Amino acid sequence: MGKKQLREDQFELYDLSIVVEEIYGVCTCNMNVGDSFYLKSGKISLPDNTDFCLYALQSTIPLLPTKQRKNNPADWMETDSRVTCPDPECKLVMRIDREKSRVLNHDDVSPIKWKK
Ligand SMILES: [Zn+2]
Repeated sequence: MGKKQLREDQFELYDLSIVVEEIYGVCTCNMNVGDSFYLKSGKISLPDNTDFCLYALQSTIPLLPTKQRKNNPADWMETDSRVTCPDPECKLVMRIDREKSRVLNHDDVSPIKWKK
C-alpha cells in the first residue's frame, strides 16, 4: 500500500481474508480450522460450496473496515488481528489477514460526487 501513484480521487483498500485459526472448544456449526471468508471493497464472499458461522462472522465485522485501511503503525489495529466467536463454549479463533491492496475510484463507491 502506498507505492502506487494515485489520482486525487483514488484511494487504496486491502482485500481481507478471515480464516479460522484454532478451535479450542466445541463448535456446533461444523466449522473447521482453515475455513474462511473474504472481504473485497464492500462485499463479503466465501469459497465455492462453503459456509461460515453467522455468529463468528458477525464478531469480525466491526473490525474489518479499519483493517482494510492503513493506520498509524502504533495503532493496535495494526498489530492485533485475532477475533473469537462470541459463544464461550466454542472458543473459535479467527485471524484477519491483509491480502493485496486495490485502488478504488471515489465515484465508483460513493453517490456523493468527488470534487476538489
Ligand atoms: Zn462458534
